[in-house]
Amino acid sequence: MIYADIIVDISHENIDRTFQYRIPEDLQASVKIGSKVNIPFGNRKEMTGYVVGLSCMPKIEEDRIRDILGVVPTGISIDSRMLELAAWIRTNYGGTMNEALKTVLPVKKSVRPKVKQELVLKCDRSTAESFLEECERKHYVAKARLIKKLLESEVLPKELVSLKLNISAPTVASLEKQGILEVRTERLDRNKSYAQEAKAPKVKLNDEQQAACDTVINDLKAGKNGTYLVFGVTGSGKTEVYMEIIDYVVKSGKQVIVLIPEIALTFQTVMRFSKRFGDRVAFFNSKLSEGERYDQYLKAKEGSIDIMIGPRSALFTPFENPGLIVIDEEHEGAYKSEGVPKYHAREAAEEICRMTGASLVLGSATPSLEAYRKAETGEYKLLKLTKRAKEARLPEVSIVDLRDELNKGNRTIFSLDLVNLMRDRLQKHEQIMLFLNRRGYSGFVSCRKCGEAVKCPHCSVSLTQHRDGKLRCHYCGYETEMPKKCPSCGSPYIAAFGTGTQKIEEAVKKLFPSAGVLRMDADTTKDKESYERILSAFANEEADILIGTQMIVKGHDFPHVTLVGILAADLSLHATDYRASEKTFQLLAQAAGRAGRANLNGNVIIQTYKPDHFAITAAAEQDYVSFYEQEILFRKNLYYPPMGHIMALLFSGKDEQATSALLKNVTAKIIDKYAALVDNKEIVSIGPAPAGISKINDHYRFVVYFKSQDYGHLTDICGEIEKYRDEIKAAGIICQTDFDPMNGY
Ligand code: ADP
Ligand code: ZN
Ligand code: ZN
Repeated sequence: MIYADIIVDISHENIDRTFQYRIPEDLQASVKIGSKVNIPFGNRKEMTGYVVGLSCMPKIEEDRIRDILGVVPTGISIDSRMLELAAWIRTNYGGTMNEALKTVLPVKKSVRPKVKQELVLKCDRSTAESFLEECERKHYVAKARLIKKLLESEVLPKELVSLKLNISAPTVASLEKQGILEVRTERLDRNKSYAQEAKAPKVKLNDEQQAACDTVINDLKAGKNGTYLVFGVTGSGKTEVYMEIIDYVVKSGKQVIVLIPEIALTFQTVMRFSKRFGDRVAFFNSKLSEGERYDQYLKAKEGSIDIMIGPRSALFTPFENPGLIVIDEEHEGAYKSEGVPKYHAREAAEEICRMTGASLVLGSATPSLEAYRKAETGEYKLLKLTKRAKEARLPEVSIVDLRDELNKGNRTIFSLDLVNLMRDRLQKHEQIMLFLNRRGYSGFVSCRKCGEAVKCPHCSVSLTQHRDGKLRCHYCGYETEMPKKCPSCGSPYIAAFGTGTQKIEEAVKKLFPSAGVLRMDADTTKDKESYERILSAFANEEADILIGTQMIVKGHDFPHVTLVGILAADLSLHATDYRASEKTFQLLAQAAGRAGRANLNGNVIIQTYKPDHFAITAAAEQDYVSFYEQEILFRKNLYYPPMGHIMALLFSGKDEQATSALLKNVTAKIIDKYAALVDNKEIVSIGPAPAGISKINDHYRFVVYFKSQDYGHLTDICGEIEKYRDEIKAAGIICQTDFDPMNGY
């Protein structure tokens, strides 16, 4: 092989193809698929690129092929599996090959290992003491200061010496030469190790847990790999099931990737896995520095760990022989990438399992429609856990109709029932969580009397009020004036909706001035520490009431919470995307699951204007299946995922007219090209229309949706869009595709 196909490492430009280079004789041994290399490119002397293919045939005239300059020694090479995965991501989600490569290679830099240096007293104490006297006599103040400290503590961290004691390197070197001290260096693992006492006694699994484990493990023993959905109520012991299966896989010599939502990667989770698996487990989070990530990457590559736990990007851990991928809380929106390429971790995990023969275990109390549908059709095996592991009862849930409260003259945020229960719990010194459902809130207009939101007549999504006062549909562009009266009941109490957590805090303090209140929302949790601090303070019972948005719903266990109040439960029903009911159901069911987890009984109050909506009644009854059965009909009727697929094509540009015009133009050409499929409705287009967020950073956004039951038709369209890439770029427009979007545009 003397030629290499190389991808140039710049993703913002449209160089999304390979270029052929010659491999000089002296590099033949070191250039491999996946190597990072230096090459001349255009009129630039040196750039970096990745080798994605090797061949012995020139593709262009031989004298036009240039030589590879060298292999980048610190670069991490990628194996062919990761290249294949990158290619799959590119095909299925759009974007460039470079963007796809950067996704599967979360670690790009190799960083020098951090070393820890310590100064250690080397001579005996009496020698040091007499040397100290000598230094003092000669006014060697720095030396004297250091020896004094060393006599107090015979080992000192180097940073402390240089920073806090302000002692220079030559001073240290001189004392070292004189035999007074020694500088000790050791390579440090940059990640805190929590692995003290590995192998904590494990719990005895109950029958349901055991049955779930047996199903997976027996398949593994029979050499079968599969995909499993562990569908278990909150607290049913899913994590114990994962750990049991992981244990088996690790003992059989394979490695395991466990994905959990970042927000749930708490100290408690880390301890639980560390206790069971000791130092064979590593953790990964998005706050790690490049160097810390590199250490984790190396450990996985070298085989010194068997289990990697982390959020979405941990999926690309380069294990030699992965045997299992676990995705906990598989319904979480965080598993879909927000950046380009907008891949979904569940789908990418399925692909990795297909490539490697690994098995996939998904878990949730409120599965995504996608996963449950596949369990229903038999593509996934369904493993049910129906009981809480610790005998705790499910909470008692009641729904309060806010329209009645208005009729009773109660115009406050809290229903009478909720206020009474709050007073009761404060007296008993039990804790309360107040959850404000703000998800998807974006200026929709609703009626305070009947609770209806004003909807688009064509798309069955809520209209959004824009700054000019008009109401618009983000799917089709339909536009109307703000009505003076509610279109459903004629009441004049109609307005854009919105209540903040701050207002709730004020209201609580007015009602219960002596209660300790914590508030958690985007304002109070700018960084991860403050988030953890608020949660720990509440877990330590430093406050009686925790008020928050969806952030408080996930991850943590608060055994003393016996009342959960869900304010404005229906707010997220009006979100402008087809997943609104699903998100509402998930949030409410998870929030309700927070109450009464220990031996205390819990109450949940759901306040809503839509007490009859199936997402709300099903959540109140913790009845996923009845929710699923209704929701899947809606998806079926409109060919929404999982009963069909959608691709959003988003253009954004500074020139509103030009951006809109070009998207219309490209859309027309695509419709023309696929006229036959469009005519018999195998492909349906919606829009183009201004996006929900119609302008970001002075860039106007327009979106068109293509729907089809055949994902392949949509990737074909995505490939077709490639042809207009140059034209789109020349117009200064950024173009993005999103398959089966998780959020509206
Ligand atoms: P999930 O992941 O489904 O929310 P967990 O695995 O976190 O549930 O279990 C909830 C609690 O029940 C944990 O404190 C766990 O240690 C405990 N638990 C789980 N399974 C058992 C069991 N078989 N016996 C006793 N306790 C268990
Ligand atoms: Zn009304
Ligand atoms: Zn519409």
